[in-house]
Amino acid sequence: MKVRTRFAPSPTGYLHVGGARTALFNWLFARKHGGEFVLRVEDTDEARNTDEAKQAIFDGMSWLGMDWDEGPGKGGDCGPYFQSERKEIYDKWFDTLADAGRVYEDDGAWRFKFERKPVTMNDMVCGEVTIDYRDESNTPDMVVKRSDGSYVFHFVNVVDDLEMGVTHVIRGEDHLMNTPKHLQLFEAFGVEPPRYAHIPLILNEDGSKMSKRDEGAAVGDYPKKGFLPEGVVNFIALLGWNPKTEEEVFSMAELIERFSLEHVNRAPGRFDFEKCKWVNQQHLAKLTDEEFAAAAKPFVVAAGLEPGADYPAVAGAVREKVRLLSEVPDAVDFLLKDEISYDPETVEKVRGNDVAKGVMSGLGGVFAEISEWSADAAKEALGVLAKEAGSKPGKLMFPLRVALSGKGGGPDLGVILELLGKEKCAQRVGKFAEML
Ligand code: GLU
Repeated sequence: MKVRTRFAPSPTGYLHVGGARTALFNWLFARKHGGEFVLRVEDTDEARNTDEAKQAIFDGMSWLGMDWDEGPGKGGDCGPYFQSERKEIYDKWFDTLADAGRVYEDDGAWRFKFERKPVTMNDMVCGEVTIDYRDESNTPDMVVKRSDGSYVFHFVNVVDDLEMGVTHVIRGEDHLMNTPKHLQLFEAFGVEPPRYAHIPLILNEDGSKMSKRDEGAAVGDYPKKGFLPEGVVNFIALLGWNPKTEEEVFSMAELIERFSLEHVNRAPGRFDFEKCKWVNQQHLAKLTDEEFAAAAKPFVVAAGLEPGADYPAVAGAVREKVRLLSEVPDAVDFLLKDEISYDPETVEKVRGNDVAKGVMSGLGGVFAEISEWSADAAKEALGVLAKEAGSKPGKLMFPLRVALSGKGGGPDLGVILELLGKEKCAQRVGKFAEML
């Protein structure tokens, strides 16, 4: 039997990380088993659904790299893939229930008659869960069709899963207690139900429930914050899935290979945005300089910097220093601009250092004399001046770094010397000496 999973979002807001995680687990499961992944939009609540929300789902999934085999924009044999366009299909299945005597009218609405027995499901994550339908006062027959003719969530969800041949339903734990109702409907339709796997909630670091306003909640914010899709996918996968190794950094292909529902935790996932940035950094580190430069370019340009001919090398120099692409402009501005700003606190660390002041003021002229500019030649010149001043070259590395970059941290000093070139280095050390 071919595995078929689906993501069935209700487009009432933006795409939340919780939704993205549900989509991801379904996507990974389908891809791992050579199956198919369907996107179905549960847009029956007309009052709350918006086109922007639908678009945010499509954009978010595309950005994360979760392609769907069937669904909006893709087509497929089980369409339409918007619930709002499936009324005839629901009417047909409602008639099946009516013909079997399983529904009755109540105040204009239609109720489905539960079988009065215990219903047990064997959830792939949560294990056995039983709801006892023998006591009608606890489990009244449920409305499936409202008096205005519209169908309720439980009914359309089940009809769609059976019509679309879904074999595995992976969804949030908030739906766990709905599932026995869904099993009752499958049984009434005479159709084998899918397997269910309910995945734990995502909580904030402090254990509170994650809300829409929490930082990192909206998938749509991640691109502009400077995350890579593969970093976010990796982070989201770890929210509830345990890779069972010390390793935490996985490519999409590795996630597909390793993912399994047996290793989905029972306990809620903890959302740690700092961790998300760390994971992103690990993925930035895997890029080539060219890939990294291309990914960071929009941020660099937006910051008003001009990425010149040596831009790929400039970007590459800070690749391992940043966690987000949005940090790149600040990290490279001293390499791209003629005039740089000096971080006052860092300058203070050098101020009053007479040896540094002396060496820096002499270094400009010495640098200018170097005929074959290289980092080694520049360092050698620094060494000579340091010795003359009765100091050690190592003690002057930091002042030189500040002189050239305006900051205390950044790429390797040798890389800075090479990238800036002779003129800029000579000019900056001279200017810095005057500041001290
Ligand atoms: N539209 C439902 C939701 O977003 C789908 C639940 C399900 O996956 O079955 O919660």
